[in-house]
Amino acid sequence: MRAIKKRINKIKSRVAGEVFSLMLSSLPGISNERLVKLTYLAEWILTRDDLVVHKVVTELRNYFKGNHPSVEFAKRFARSLNPKCRKALVETFLVSAVFKGASQAKDYEDKEGFLPPWFLVLSPTMRCNLNCLGCSTRRYTKDDDLAIPIIDRLLDEAREMGIHFIVTQGGEMFVYEEMLDLYKKHRDMYFQVYTNGTLIDKKMARTIARLGNVAPMISLEGFRETTDKRRGKGVFDKAMQAMDNLKETGCFFGASVTQARNNTDEIASDEFFELLLGKGCFVVWFFQFLPIGKDPDLNLMATPSQRYQLREKIMQIRAKLPIFIGDFWNDGPFMGGCIAAGRRYLHINNKGDVEPCAFVHFAVDNIKNKSLKEALNSDFFRFLRSRQPYNNGNLLAPCMIIDQPEVLRQAVAQTGAHPTHEGADVILDGFVKQGLDEYAQQIAKITAPVWEDLKDKVFKWPF
Ligand code: SF4
Repeated sequence: MRAIKKRINKIKSRVAGEVFSLMLSSLPGISNERLVKLTYLAEWILTRDDLVVHKVVTELRNYFKGNHPSVEFAKRFARSLNPKCRKALVETFLVSAVFKGASQAKDYEDKEGFLPPWFLVLSPTMRCNLNCLGCSTRRYTKDDDLAIPIIDRLLDEAREMGIHFIVTQGGEMFVYEEMLDLYKKHRDMYFQVYTNGTLIDKKMARTIARLGNVAPMISLEGFRETTDKRRGKGVFDKAMQAMDNLKETGCFFGASVTQARNNTDEIASDEFFELLLGKGCFVVWFFQFLPIGKDPDLNLMATPSQRYQLREKIMQIRAKLPIFIGDFWNDGPFMGGCIAAGRRYLHINNKGDVEPCAFVHFAVDNIKNKSLKEALNSDFFRFLRSRQPYNNGNLLAPCMIIDQPEVLRQAVAQTGAHPTHEGADVILDGFVKQGLDEYAQQIAKITAPVWEDLKDKVFKWPF
């Protein structure tokens, strides 16, 4: 019975890929009414008593009915992507990672007793061709890289769990050229690659277009002056050129922006979003500057009210521009809170340390001598998962680092997790501890009334 069910699901996945491809290729000329009908077909094909899949398709239908900007977003990628990138996005990301992955993950849960994460973040190298302010990647060499056979094994283990979405970051990912072979080898996985963009010339853009399953996210701090001040003279223009090269070859790409105290007004302006849209970005990811590292400066962090200002701007932009925006901290309500420690993702650094999150630099395991499954079952990860969504459940303040800092302190104290680099533990004590406690109080004060109003309206994740 189980085998038959599996076979049916496999056929459904294949058909789903075709239906989505058909939907996308006909999007530019199709009416919204027809799109609504197609969502019913997609639902029939895909739903396997799966709440998440059901939720995604229902949301899509509502968007089509309301002529939401995301309809134009979908039409944009039907118009602008080359066939290979479009196919990879639909079949590898949407069908394999989102839909099939959800069903495979459930099978894994039935067998192993825990739900695997949805994606992995890997930092295979810390080497970089730039020397940005506040970053110390210069001292890293090729010897510090996570070796290709280990990453290869890790990707195989991830696939076994139903994971088909992998994020890579550095250092600068395009200095680690062997990774391109891995992207090609694991073509049933979709790779989102964070990059400074300076190595994406026309030739590299063509390579990325040929691969299809690689989506570069180019880092910016704002406009030219702010970006160059941190990253070096000329970097903004090179990032813009990289976007032009990717647009010309029909690749799926986006931008990655870190909010700090000095750039809020700039990145939360209409002009900034219009620039990114005009350059052809499909996605923008927002991150917060965090005081992690040896000599942290809390004054570089965006204040709680600046963070809230960005949230409000993003809500406005989502309602009017055809661009996908992810706000790693303020989107807690959409994700059911913190997604770290394997609940939805985990991070593995260049030394192989298995960290709960790309920003939580503590570990108990190393992937060189542990399987992914063993690492996900560590006391450290299980402690964090058992505490999510942490304390008062205000999902607008979801983070164990800056919003609920006592959670990270308890997890480290109770499980003996060790810092993964010199100075990573500075965050637990002294003036940083005091500064983060104050930040946490302020963000709670700002977001509590908003959360009170929102809490009954958000989707409740079943896990
Ligand atoms: S620890 Fe903070 S940054 Fe990391 S996943 Fe959780 S909420 Fe996000």
